[in-house]
Amino acid sequence: MDHFIYRNGGLHAEGVPLAEIAASVGTPFYCYSTATLTRHYQLFKEALSPLPNLVCFAIKSLSNVAVLKVLGDLGAGMDVVSVGEYLRARAAGVPGDRIVFSGVGKTREEMRVALEGGIRQFNVESEPEMRALSDVAQSLGLRAPIAVRVNPDVDARTHAKIATGKSENKFGIPIARAREVYAEAARLPGLEVVGIDVHIGSQLVELEPFEQAFRKVAELTETLRADGHDIRRLDLGGGLGIPYARSNEAPPLPLDYGAMVKRTLGHLGCEIEIEPGRLISGNSGVLVSRVIYVKNGEGRDFLILDAAMNDLVRPAMYDAHHDIIPLAEPAAGSPTQPFDVVGPVCETGDTFAKGRELPLVAEGDLVAFRSAGAYGAVMSNEYNTRPLVPEVLVRDDHFAVIRARPSYDEILKRDIIPEWL
Ligand SMILES: *Cc1c(COP(=O)(O)O)cnc(C)c1O
Repeated sequence: MDHFIYRNGGLHAEGVPLAEIAASVGTPFYCYSTATLTRHYQLFKEALSPLPNLVCFAIKSLSNVAVLKVLGDLGAGMDVVSVGEYLRARAAGVPGDRIVFSGVGKTREEMRVALEGGIRQFNVESEPEMRALSDVAQSLGLRAPIAVRVNPDVDARTHAKIATGKSENKFGIPIARAREVYAEAARLPGLEVVGIDVHIGSQLVELEPFEQAFRKVAELTETLRADGHDIRRLDLGGGLGIPYARSNEAPPLPLDYGAMVKRTLGHLGCEIEIEPGRLISGNSGVLVSRVIYVKNGEGRDFLILDAAMNDLVRPAMYDAHHDIIPLAEPAAGSPTQPFDVVGPVCETGDTFAKGRELPLVAEGDLVAFRSAGAYGAVMSNEYNTRPLVPEVLVRDDHFAVIRARPSYDEILKRDIIPEWL
């Protein structure tokens, strides 16, 4: 469920007509709903209750500081994968003891900043990383709290580019080697073992791969405890999928996910951490774009939009589907027509949808890509010197620009012509 609904003939974000934002901000733009972000966060809190838990929003899915503040003010933790994301979380007012630091290639400098600033836990992914972290912590006179990310070798059955839990993926350490890795972690003077971490992939549409992984984590918890490690937190990662094609997809609900977590891990007395990104941010955002031209091609009609693959790369990168709807509500039973929906970028890959049945739209009309909140704005870029797409946040009946569209002056000023040229 989200808060993008037709009212009085026009698509609204909560109480604000998206057409009104378009008139004020220009297109394309991303728009996020505070109510939807809040609701999705709370769904996870309810799903995990009464287990002690921390829901850490995966910042990489949507990293605008205003959005982080919405979630941080509710008590959310944050999952960061770079020091840049760490600084975003802090800028949003999230205390260090609610931030977990994930990622396969943390540098010593990143470790230092997080240790000095305050951090709940590092999820470490290799032995060399463990040794580096121990060194850095020791040099600061600290001990770094860690969980080791284990790779449970389960098939997440998702898109290959976002599956992370098979042994051939670069992530984590093989679960079969966990005992020896934890033994070394316990010997390293700059580390304090606090838990186990696992994250098997993104946009999972079944519970079963999670359950397989979590059963392995439960077993490992008992083993490591018997070895003398104080395993008190289990970080289960993110990955729960969302329905991108609303007419025919129904991924598991947070409530069912929570019930499964309790069933598989509830008896261990651990604090549960989860790192959902997409499920919190995905349906909390839309990308609004204007039709520049309708071009009648050979046997197909193209809808040429002012949004492109640089603004929303998911269709080009992951063959992803986004529902596309007009901002003006089509009358019930009004005709539709297949369109190839494309952007202006000079690549055939700049195609959002092929043969998509859409209501009849014309030049100048506005459309919205649904479920664009996650991995949308964060993956945008200025390819073709298209200004970075702005972001807008709505709450109730007001909106604010939370990242402005840069001017061409600002864009050109970033390039430097050397003196000797
Ligand atoms: C990407 C990522 C997440 C979030 O994944 P979603 O599918 O957006 O929920 C969580 N944890 C880690 C370690 C990640 O890399």
